Amino acid sequence: MPIKIDYKKCCWKDGKCSSCCCGKACTGCVEACAIGAITRGDVVKIDKDKCIECGACIIACKHNALSLS
Ligand code: SF4
Ligand code: SF4
Repeated sequence: MPIKIDYKKCCWKDGKCSSCCCGKACTGCVEACAIGAITRGDVVKIDKDKCIECGACIIACKHNALSLS
């Protein structure tokens, strides 16, 4: 069951946070992943080869954009 991201729910769009006025990084998924399987570029990406499906990013995401399915 790989981690899936719902890009409609994720606030990180075009390289910045779209849910507030600061334009800084949404802290959550990237910081929660101890093995560095998530990156924020233009969009959030999950390296499925690195991911160990621990679920920490799901808990950390304030927008419920991540799931195991
Ligand atoms: S924590 Fe959630 S909303 Fe924030 S960048 Fe990660 S997936 Fe997107
Ligand atoms: S499930 Fe765990 S290992 Fe996989 S991307 Fe999320 S925090 Fe990282």
